[in-house]
Amino acid sequence: MTPAIIDTHCHLSDGKFSDDIDEVIERAVAAGVTRMVAVGGGGPIEDSRRSAEMAERYDCLRSTAGIHPHDAASVDQATIDELQDLLARPTVVAVGETGLDYYYDNSPRDLQREALARHLQLAQQCSLPIVLHCRDAHEDLRDVLEAEGVPAAGGVVHCFTGNYQEACWYLDHGLLLSFTGIISFRNAGELRDVAARVPLDSMMLETDSPYLAPEPKRGKRNEPGYVVHVAEAMARARDCSLEEVARATTANAEKMFFS
Ligand SMILES: [Zn+2]
Ligand SMILES: [Zn+2]
Repeated sequence: MTPAIIDTHCHLSDGKFSDDIDEVIERAVAAGVTRMVAVGGGGPIEDSRRSAEMAERYDCLRSTAGIHPHDAASVDQATIDELQDLLARPTVVAVGETGLDYYYDNSPRDLQREALARHLQLAQQCSLPIVLHCRDAHEDLRDVLEAEGVPAAGGVVHCFTGNYQEACWYLDHGLLLSFTGIISFRNAGELRDVAARVPLDSMMLETDSPYLAPEPKRGKRNEPGYVVHVAEAMARARDCSLEEVARATTANAEKMFFS
């Protein structure tokens, strides 16, 4: 039997799950996805609050609290205070997602960098790992991480899509990389090559659902149970067994989020 797989990044508080969240979680567990991290920060602070409440309702869930870079312009002292309250709850296990998104530029870049710095400070204060989002912004992300320091509890660059050199920088600085269903897409050969070279003890798997459904579900609403397809794509890319991928990535995720 395939060892359990953990979906380390799903947006279960997204409106796309509001009608059938119980079924979505049941299907995941039935598929061998025994644990999930419901990420906060798919929107303003309310999203982190909803994720925290959800993690308190389901044993198989933990949550994170943060403000997505898209909403960085909304971060003020009241937001930070509320995040701090959420981060004190036992089922809230990481800060994020935070980071830089220069592809959409939904918030001004200087405010994104400032919000990221405050999240890194929170992670340090609360001794929690950080969940980072980076799109077209590796150099600036690196600069902010160098200025603020990577939290002692480490963290993860989620939905990693960078090159091997960028991957090495994050690994050298104590961060893990998390891969989504993008590695199953036909045109993602370069990313698959990177995924094949990154050591198994440095990676985790995620769906980033409801977005980015992996093959053979591409184009549908994504859900945590489909992380099995991400694991299969990873095993193909690395030319190893599904068991090996599941065992290593689950151990990494347990250490970061469930210990
Ligand atoms: Zn993200
Ligand atoms: Zn996300």
